[in-house]
Amino acid sequence: MEEEVRKMQKEAGRHSYSLGSVLGRMLRNAWRQCPSVYRIFAVYTLAAAVYPFLAVGLPKAMLGELEKGAAARGERILWIAAAYFVLAGLLGFVRTFTERMGYEKLSFLRLDYVKDSCVKYMEMAYPYAEDAHFVQQYDKAFIATQSNDNGVEGIYHKLFEMPAVFLTVGVMGVLVSRLSLWVLGGLCLNLAAILWSGRRGQRLRYEKKETEARQRRRVSYYSQTAGDFRYGKDIRLYGLKERIRENHVQEIEKYRALNRLLAGREYRLGFVCLAAALAGDLLTYGILIGRTLSGMSIADFSMYLTATLTLSAYLKQAAEQLSFIIGEGQYVHELYRFQDTDLGEKGGAHPAVAGDTLEIVFDDVSFRYPGTDAYVFRHLNLTIHKGERLAVVGINGAGKTTLVKLMMGLFDVTEGQIRINGVLIGEYDKKALYSMFSAVFQDVNVMAFTVRENVAGRTEGIDVTRVAAVLERVGLSQAVDALPGKTEQMLLKVIDENGAMLSGGQNQKLAIARALYKDACMVVMDEPTAALDALAEAEIYEDFSELVRGRTAVYISHRLASTRFCDHIAFFDGDGLKEYGTHEELMAKQGAYYEMFTVQGKYYTQTDAGQPEKGGAGR
Ligand code: ADP
Repeated sequence: MEEEVRKMQKEAGRHSYSLGSVLGRMLRNAWRQCPSVYRIFAVYTLAAAVYPFLAVGLPKAMLGELEKGAAARGERILWIAAAYFVLAGLLGFVRTFTERMGYEKLSFLRLDYVKDSCVKYMEMAYPYAEDAHFVQQYDKAFIATQSNDNGVEGIYHKLFEMPAVFLTVGVMGVLVSRLSLWVLGGLCLNLAAILWSGRRGQRLRYEKKETEARQRRRVSYYSQTAGDFRYGKDIRLYGLKERIRENHVQEIEKYRALNRLLAGREYRLGFVCLAAALAGDLLTYGILIGRTLSGMSIADFSMYLTATLTLSAYLKQAAEQLSFIIGEGQYVHELYRFQDTDLGEKGGAHPAVAGDTLEIVFDDVSFRYPGTDAYVFRHLNLTIHKGERLAVVGINGAGKTTLVKLMMGLFDVTEGQIRINGVLIGEYDKKALYSMFSAVFQDVNVMAFTVRENVAGRTEGIDVTRVAAVLERVGLSQAVDALPGKTEQMLLKVIDENGAMLSGGQNQKLAIARALYKDACMVVMDEPTAALDALAEAEIYEDFSELVRGRTAVYISHRLASTRFCDHIAFFDGDGLKEYGTHEELMAKQGAYYEMFTVQGKYYTQTDAGQPEKGGAGR
């Protein structure tokens, strides 16, 4: 995986930005996903390109009539005005209507990109999900689809508008060139200045984008923490308000300083544009006045003036559109780089074990997380036998969860081998591998689906009787029956505002129910009782054999009480696997396990029934 990360970084350097290929790909995508947008686009271009010429032609036509004799002019002027208003109204309507239709379609196009990115996230190899550098590396790619006005959609808007602008610029340019090529030259100078300063400004923003994004994340961390009620108790009880406020102010100040720096440079660039615009205007007006003094008609003067002003405005628009496209194109380029990089899971072709439970062998395994130097395990040798219930215990940070991630193939070992039923873990097809484990993690994430979809992990073909049975087994039936929709009740309020919110303990039970429903070859429970009350925890301990039903099971806990229902104990400390054996063996050894057990035991009381109570280890 580390090699892949390095490869990715190298590739990032190699993958250089080419506007042509970005735009070509965007246009091809639009053609594939939504060809109708091109038709709308053609009508829009026609209407929008003709529209400005009405304003140029009208004064010339009217003044021309006025310069003629008085006889027919009243009626003709009226006709000209009427024709102008009808045509302008019609073209204006067509332009606005097609623009709105086009924008709607372009918005859907962006959502397609978002959808593709979401699929990519879900298919990505798991280690990227835990890799902080990954987010940094693709920060700009994520920006490309975040809003309607930037990145992908922003560029589509400009591509949609630009042909009309360029058409108008072209025809007006020919018209104005009849007046003087100097005027055209002045306007082009103006355009070059806008393009240059726009590009400089964008490059600057792009270079600082990572710093800006990091700073924004820091500011929003403090804003969110202050407004998050979950932190309310700690903030009040530990007097954290001042600290949060001070840090927040500091971060906002840094964010402001960065923006001030960028705005200051953009401001200076703006002066260059202003000077070029002034020079261009002086030239134009000078030539126009000179020509009129030497006999040009007022009608022509008015037409050329409107044409030059329109051309100048359209040139400015074209320049801004171009520099916007060049600037935002970099983000889309990053998005394509993300989409093109192979981040998928690499597995073999071996099918899942069927009709059997698992034996897992860690053979001289060493592991450190990608991008880190500290080994979590060095030369770990451990066999989890078929049908065995293994308790993995130890202090926080000892590597218990890491052990599970390795044996489920979420991470690859750095050195050594893991074999599942004699087959190297890397030879299993990834999907097959995941299908072999029923796992319950400490950080339970309930989805905004119905209760039964949450339990079954699917929408179609749910065995409702089994759903009811597993809910009963984890002691959640009553709570679910009390919900208005029972097992069809939607959870969470994100999608359905009437969705039910379960308690932390209920969520954990739901996760256990999901693991039971899956009924895979092996059961893994990683601190599954952290959010449960003492009684519910004791029930899980009691029922564990029944829950796992002869399958190999790993039960992770930092609480030693969990060892009482397991066959073997693997005790981990900061240096890896410290002790392995049955409870009796490890107690007799009087080593680290014994010590920890005795310390926890001091705070542990045993009920009359011999049930463990929350807070200690005993048996
Ligand atoms: P436990 O489950 O025993 O509490 P973990 O397996 O979660 O311990 O973590 C073992 C060590 O690995 C810890 O030092 C932890 O900080 C580190 N660690 C866990 N996940 C990652 C990660 N994604 N990247 C880098 N280090 C990690």
